[in-house]
Amino acid sequence: MLKTFKIGGVHPEENKFSAGAAIEKLPLPETVSIPVAQHIGAPAKVLVKRKDEVKVGTVIAESGGFVSANIHSSVSGVVQKIDNVYDASGYRRQAVIIKVEGDEWEEQIDQSDELKKDINLNQKEIVDKINAAGIVGLGGATFPTHVKLMVPEGKKAEMLLINGVECEPYLTADHRLMLEKKHEMMMGIRILMTALGVQKAAIGIENNKPDAIEELRKISVEYPGIDIVPLKVKYPQGGEKQLIKAVMNREVPSGKLPIEVGAVVQNVGTAFAVYEAVQKNKPLIERVVTVTGKSVKKPSNLMVRIGTPVENLIEAAGGLPEDTGKVVSGGPMMGKALNDLAAPVTKGTSGVLLFKDSEAHRIDYEACIRCSKCVTACPMGLEPYQLMNYATHEMWKESEADRIMDCIECGSCSFTCPSYRPLLDYIRLGKSNVSQIIRSRKQ
Ligand code: SF4
Ligand code: SF4
Repeated sequence: MLKTFKIGGVHPEENKFSAGAAIEKLPLPETVSIPVAQHIGAPAKVLVKRKDEVKVGTVIAESGGFVSANIHSSVSGVVQKIDNVYDASGYRRQAVIIKVEGDEWEEQIDQSDELKKDINLNQKEIVDKINAAGIVGLGGATFPTHVKLMVPEGKKAEMLLINGVECEPYLTADHRLMLEKKHEMMMGIRILMTALGVQKAAIGIENNKPDAIEELRKISVEYPGIDIVPLKVKYPQGGEKQLIKAVMNREVPSGKLPIEVGAVVQNVGTAFAVYEAVQKNKPLIERVVTVTGKSVKKPSNLMVRIGTPVENLIEAAGGLPEDTGKVVSGGPMMGKALNDLAAPVTKGTSGVLLFKDSEAHRIDYEACIRCSKCVTACPMGLEPYQLMNYATHEMWKESEADRIMDCIECGSCSFTCPSYRPLLDYIRLGKSNVSQIIRSRKQ
């Protein structure tokens, strides 16, 4: 029987329309807007000014703290201005705006397709290189990768777990990467194993991607210590705690990190970026983005330079369909609605999803009928209906006691509610208030 996590979970329609679409390089835009806060942690500090000339790979903003990441120019050209722009999460953030001229790369970057298999660096050198390259978790979490590789004193990493689940409906960027960059990704995993000093790694892949499972199984004999683990399809299996339960059958305690049970989790896209950073000296300047939706003419997987406006991606996928009601950055379960199509692609942009007007409007919600479907669906064992009640009445002490901070914002509760209650919206509100209270307690 296929493995999966035990508590909760839902089965939304998969709608992986772009699964057969090979990755295409998106042409360079005329300008890019590169936000300096594209990761969890402190924003990076801008190093360039108006009229400065930059190349692909030039550091334009340096890490602003321990949990932060460098930002590099994704194009060659001239800095037009430093300004605030709306990013994909709807916030105005400081960004470096660069007018594109040519496509000149920093000299040290190896642009060839040659697969480099020898790892000549020690653990510290690998972590330093990943840090310098500005690599962050590409599954959407955007946590700086070098920080995750520094195992705290008293803890031990036993296994590297690679997330090839891509459980969000519609998205196929990771699936294509596993098929088209399989050796590079496996090398990235070997590099991450070396950095962590572990002998074992496993790639969890849901069995709706049988081609990726087969291809990676075939080549895994060349990469000792890496297991391919097919998983039953269930959302949100890509959540770190759910993936650890599914593959390792271990439970990360409430409020703790995966390292507590000996696991470090990285995404397949991150493993590919690590390969490019360590073996090719290439910083994180581009990523694969799925552009899809029921009315999209040409559902696509595009290799996109960071900072490219979302509207360019939509154009490449056949243009904005007339019946578009909402454009979402990310997948339908965890993605955020875009309020400006000029918003730039960032390191965390995994998809652009176009909902039809008929799919986009919210149904008026009704009273809770106490059916407990939301409780059954919650993969964290929470009581979403109760957390919404608390948020409605600003009962933050009760929210904290009922573990609101354990919510991974997967949306399974809202998805399953027969009364269409906006559970996740209220839970997010509650989380933001409770986290402020927790922060002020520590000060
Ligand atoms: S959004 Fe939070 S409360 Fe709702 S099902 Fe997911 S983890 Fe549970
Ligand atoms: S699923 Fe909806 S109606 Fe049922 S208990 Fe939860 S909030 Fe109430």
